[in-house]
Amino acid sequence: MTALIEMFLCRSDNFGALIHDPSTGRTAAIDAPEAAPIEAALARRGWRLTDILVTHHHEDHVAGIETLKAAHGCRVVAAKADAHRIPAVDLTVEEGGTVSVGALEAAIIDTPGHTVGHIAYHFAGEKVLFAADTLFSLGCGRVFEGTMADMWGSLQKLRALPDETQLYCGHEYTLSNARFALTVDPGNEALAARAAEVERQRAENRFTLPVKLGAEKRENPFLRADDAGIARHLGLEGAGALAVFTELRERKNRF
Ligand SMILES: [Zn+2]
Repeated sequence: MTALIEMFLCRSDNFGALIHDPSTGRTAAIDAPEAAPIEAALARRGWRLTDILVTHHHEDHVAGIETLKAAHGCRVVAAKADAHRIPAVDLTVEEGGTVSVGALEAAIIDTPGHTVGHIAYHFAGEKVLFAADTLFSLGCGRVFEGTMADMWGSLQKLRALPDETQLYCGHEYTLSNARFALTVDPGNEALAARAAEVERQRAENRFTLPVKLGAEKRENPFLRADDAGIARHLGLEGAGALAVFTELRERKNRF
């Protein structure tokens, strides 16, 4: 039986997500932005929380951990590099390792840049990626702790995953990202069509996620920093991908 996934808003624009293994009944929350909406989602589906898979230490991803752990006794999984600044960690993981949620298995991918210890969870068997604040739909996370080279390297790792992978992100930022993306890649017809769809989705108050990674590879400028057309549009013809990525990220910071 395949995994069931429930996605819902937390706080103002954070996504909460639950992944449930019907064969064992185990259920993991991806991050814990806030306990109440996670409890509500569990109650809605009749699931019991057994694990919290933490992506990074920011308050809006860990604030609900202690409340949820006290209520459910669930296991808290986090990056070894960040365990000292994430509450109540039971199991540390790092790249090359895996974590199981019942019969479901996630590979750990180190994705530094947004924070130094940020990780993503790739459930290859389910074709699902939880990228949190590294890769957003049509955008990427701000580079707070790592370097631009770290972030570009992390995005290249995620870009290497199969096109049919369903991407789940930490925030509903797609509309703002779409509007920015059009300014740096205006000739991209797939992006223009997607941006129009995102405008409709948000006008109807619908989520823009999950989205297939294959579409992101065609439409997300931050995954296309090595595209000659984008470099030319930025006036960086012949520059390396890292210089183009850095320019994209700095322009988005000011957008
Ligand atoms: Zn963050």
